[in-house]
Amino acid sequence: MASKEEVKKQICEAIDRRQGQIERIGDHIMVNPELGFKEFETAKLVAGTMEEFGISHETGLGITGVKGVLRGKKPGPTVALIGELDSLLVSDHPDADAATGAAHACGHNAQIAGLMGAMMGIVDSRAAEDLAGTVIFFAVPAEEYVEVEYRLGLVREGKLSFLGGKPELIQLGHFDDVDMAVMIHTHSDESLKKAGVSASSNGFVSKMIRFLGRAAHAGGAPHKGVNALNAAQIALSAIHAQRETFQDQDAIRVHPVITKGGDLVNVIPAEVKMETYVRGRTSEAILDANAKVDRALRAGAMAVGAKVEIETLPGYMPLKNDPDLKDLFQTNSESLFGADEFSEVGHRTGSTDMGDVSHIMPALHPYMAGASGPGHSVEWHISDKEMGYVAPAKSLAMLAVDLLYGEADQAKGILKDYRPEMSKQAYLEFQSQMFRTEVYDGEIDVLPRLKSGDSGGSL
Ligand SMILES: [Zn+2]
Ligand SMILES: [Zn+2]
Repeated sequence: MASKEEVKKQICEAIDRRQGQIERIGDHIMVNPELGFKEFETAKLVAGTMEEFGISHETGLGITGVKGVLRGKKPGPTVALIGELDSLLVSDHPDADAATGAAHACGHNAQIAGLMGAMMGIVDSRAAEDLAGTVIFFAVPAEEYVEVEYRLGLVREGKLSFLGGKPELIQLGHFDDVDMAVMIHTHSDESLKKAGVSASSNGFVSKMIRFLGRAAHAGGAPHKGVNALNAAQIALSAIHAQRETFQDQDAIRVHPVITKGGDLVNVIPAEVKMETYVRGRTSEAILDANAKVDRALRAGAMAVGAKVEIETLPGYMPLKNDPDLKDLFQTNSESLFGADEFSEVGHRTGSTDMGDVSHIMPALHPYMAGASGPGHSVEWHISDKEMGYVAPAKSLAMLAVDLLYGEADQAKGILKDYRPEMSKQAYLEFQSQMFRTEVYDGEIDVLPRLKSGDSGGSL
């Protein structure tokens, strides 16, 4: 039996031999971007590559997910290696899809290249002979939480339960046979060096907000209208007034946008739409900030006698990277790039649905270099294909070997001591109860009290 280090070396050599093919996959997806839950062509490419390497797989999971299974020689735990299929919408990106505006401005194309590369390396080197357990190659849909109206439509039609890919896959039971999960996200941040792991990152809830007033002639009879834009503007100020109550350790981020500000300039706006996320480090902090945002929204409606509809939607859970998986990733990174090319950072304030996975099983979501330009911008691109596409393939495969080599002692050791944040059931209940719609009528709330003299009569 080959030693663990020999197995890893053989996999890396096999991956090097596949470098051209791996890079072609990454480049092909880069110029053929598809938005979440619509990644049909990308999923076909993944399924075709699994076919080519003799990996049995299921397709159409959570609409587009593809799950390949490779069993080791002996039974044992199941490790999922994950890559995200979806792109963003950045229509002026040079590699954007002309018809849809979709563009890979977050490097998920590199994740799929890395995932396929890891699969090729493990298959070509016949490493499964030395493993106890199962490696799952899981291409998952819709990490970016975008096109909310469209996805909400799918929820209402019963085609989705959640608005993100991994929550949906968890709900459908496609993580039930997975014991631990690992993915690698490309970064363009020089402070993170070639490889880096954060301890944690923010979770969030998403909010769709509609202020409803009454249209009137903006010049001739504004007193007959109820100005929904003024309600929204007061609500925004009221949200900003909460900020001094947010504590640093909670890392709250509230970043509303107005998506509809009115109709015509000479009409008092009768409908104004806003969206926001409420992000934070813990679920408790998110719920607390969310209650303050709701209060601020109602205040805007109350001030001008408008209505506000507040639709709160489950977002993603805060991410907690597993420290044991982090240690294994770090050791492999140091052997690939040298000890000074690994960085550990504290808490990050972005969000990922890998956070949801990390609530129910040991999970790892590290970063690796290879990209340039700010994330989610027109400048984002994979500037170093070996680092962006090939190195993550090696890193994923090496981690799978660490976990499952021999009798899978590493994986079994991690699972023995692991206590999940939540059971799957508790997680699903928590996320499901985030779906809430409130209609607050500012006029009804105020007028009866004024009429009945409850205001004290001293006005
Ligand atoms: Zn992103
Ligand atoms: Zn991303």
